[in-house]
Amino acid sequence: MSAVKNVWVFAEKHEALAELCAGGHQIGERVSALLIGTKSDAEELANAAADQVYWLGETDSARMLEDYVLTLVKLVNERRPDVLLVGSSKRARLLAGRLAARLGTAVLADVMEFITSGKQLQCKRMVYGGAAVCTEISGASTVIATVAAGIFSTTAVVAAPQGTIESVAFVEPGQGLKRLERRVKGGVHVNLAAAKRVIAVGRGIANQEDLTMIKELANLIGAELGCTRPLSEGVNWLPRERYIGVSGVMFKPELYIGIGISGQVQHMVGCDQAGTIFVINKDKTAPIFTQADYGVIGDLYKIIPALIEKVKGNKTPQ
Ligand SMILES: Cc1cc2nc3c(=O)[nH]c(=O)nc-3n(C[C@H](O)[C@H](O)[C@H](O)COP(=O)(O)OP(=O)(O)OC[C@H]3O[C@@H](n4cnc5c(N)ncnc54)[C@H](O)[C@@H]3O)c2cc1C
Repeated sequence: MSAVKNVWVFAEKHEALAELCAGGHQIGERVSALLIGTKSDAEELANAAADQVYWLGETDSARMLEDYVLTLVKLVNERRPDVLLVGSSKRARLLAGRLAARLGTAVLADVMEFITSGKQLQCKRMVYGGAAVCTEISGASTVIATVAAGIFSTTAVVAAPQGTIESVAFVEPGQGLKRLERRVKGGVHVNLAAAKRVIAVGRGIANQEDLTMIKELANLIGAELGCTRPLSEGVNWLPRERYIGVSGVMFKPELYIGIGISGQVQHMVGCDQAGTIFVINKDKTAPIFTQADYGVIGDLYKIIPALIEKVKGNKTPQ
């Protein structure tokens, strides 16, 4: 049994909250979720993931996430959780910083692994662009840490049926930010961290149009499409939410297929926990082969069409 008693979790997005609850159960004895959402969201969490739900009320379009700082400060001061895990979205990170400042403590940012040893919680995060790992321990009575999606395995969830729900009164912020407008982001939203199978492409793809054959293969095997940073932030062929690595998505899919990717550490730290790693690269000295379970040395422009034909053939009824 862990010596860490009470773990609280908070996230801007509900899917992240469920994952943090799963992680909370791996760290401590009792998990409480802080939720902004509907009553039925609160009930769902209490029935499936959290021992306790602090319900901060329905989403209110007039409120920014940071407007909840005083509400959370009051609650933390009253109940004194051992750990507060915050999902690492932009706004939630801002909130974590303001919360820590109010509580006179610090935030451990971008934690990728927690190790409990007695009452101590060691937090590991990458530094120098993924070249080294830093281990830190917070001296605060409530450890506040931000966590990226995909760090915790949701399959290890210990269901906590019949968790309780407690309504928390909103404390008006003294000086708030005022939202002037809210627009829905265009394009298709993808939650790569939740994907079981991912095909990731790198600079081995010579032209944007060639992504069509990769998408075809991904559709055939039910995989999401991911990429390395240069394909997203360099040539803009794929959106930011699809790139994997230290500054992108970190996850643990069942299957990762890397195509035309050299295997630099900044990319691999995002996917090296995958169940099976299968890679294709024409350079037999590419570092990605050292991390792969299966590797094919060869030209992707020959191998991918052949793979597509093979998978299609297997799908055709005899
Ligand atoms: C601070 C910092 C943070 C970073 N964060 C990230 C991050 O989060 N995610 C990330 O991905 N990167 C990140 N990077 C960039 C990272 O260091 C690498 O530059 C990047 O991952 C390389 O992408 P790549 O493998 O697509 O390209 P390359 O390294 O150029 O590799 C392309 C590979 O394709 C192979 N290839 C070429 N043609 C073919 C073909 N026809 N068939 C088969 N194989 C072929 C080549 O042999 C080569 O191995 C970061 C860098 C820094 C400095």
